[in-house]
Amino acid sequence: MCGSKRKIVLVGTGMVGMSFAYSALNRGLCDTLVLVDVDRKRAMGEAMDLNHGLAFAGSSMKIYAGEYSDCSDADMVVISAGVGQKPGESRLELLKRNTGVFQSIIEPVVRSGFGGVFLVATNPVDVMTRVTFELSGFNPKRVFGTGTTLDTARLRYLLGEYFAVDPRNMHAYVIGEHGDSEFVPWSQAMIATKPVIDVCGQSGGRYQLSEVQRLSDEVRDAAQRIIEAKKATYYGIGMAMVRIARAVLSDENSVLTVSARLWGEYGQRGVYAGVPCVVNRNGVDRVLELGLTEEEREKFSESCGILEESYQGLEL
Ligand code: NAD
Repeated sequence: MCGSKRKIVLVGTGMVGMSFAYSALNRGLCDTLVLVDVDRKRAMGEAMDLNHGLAFAGSSMKIYAGEYSDCSDADMVVISAGVGQKPGESRLELLKRNTGVFQSIIEPVVRSGFGGVFLVATNPVDVMTRVTFELSGFNPKRVFGTGTTLDTARLRYLLGEYFAVDPRNMHAYVIGEHGDSEFVPWSQAMIATKPVIDVCGQSGGRYQLSEVQRLSDEVRDAAQRIIEAKKATYYGIGMAMVRIARAVLSDENSVLTVSARLWGEYGQRGVYAGVPCVVNRNGVDRVLELGLTEEEREKFSESCGILEESYQGLEL
């Protein structure tokens, strides 16, 4: 950490960014929170609004609308800035516009002398995290994205409901692209240390593996269902970002499915994808490689192939 005071600069004070900020304030995540947005008036209004809640918060926090120069002594820069999809716009066109947004952000952050960790939430998060890595020239350990952290939390919640077990005792991961090609390697799903496949097989028909596997479809479609109902998703991702940031600021060595750069793991090289990683003050300390089955490995390669193709389409 840069000092004893924990400082975060949030870039992008929209719904996702402010859900993160609100949750950060309630959890006492850091000592200083700086809000930056291309719409400075919005950032100022959000800072005022949060400051008025300080009297009711459990801890004090310095919150203000700032500039990229504020990144010079920050521990983390959290990015949730982005532009929405225009009618008729392709995914690649949107990706190109968001890359333009990131060019306007990363360059001044790096110029400030920032020496901390980048956490990216902007979608498509795996590709935008790779863009951040390329534009910043930082050590890849210090550039990572929210990846499948939220998807994994959703999966654990659903598994917990199905088996009537506390989700914290469900050890299962969603891996790959944060998007349509993400999947659950069921060979690695456990209740405590007992494989879910064995629990189903020994339950005398009470628990069906086919039903459990359907839960992963529910996880994949969750964002779309929320968007249909209320136009956007933000509370869950905001809380996931706070969870990840806490692992960094408190040097926790927590295992989280963040979007990390693969360099040999799972036979991949250069791509960013959601995988279980040990996260601490250095960012991604290491990727914890799972022992996937042949079929799961193939699915993972397919997912990484899609991410690679999107990234190459950018022609950075
Ligand atoms: P939003 O439109 O509410 O907010 C985006 C903010 O970015 C706005 O305040 C805008 O002014 C700002 N911005 C745009 N260009 C900028 C620039 N050049 N510099 C600084 N700020 C700039 O959108 P949102 O709902 O907050 O979503 C933000 C991003 O988070 C989207 O890409 C969305 O898809 C993504 N998201 C990710 C996950 C995940 O799991 N990773 C989940 C939900 C949403």
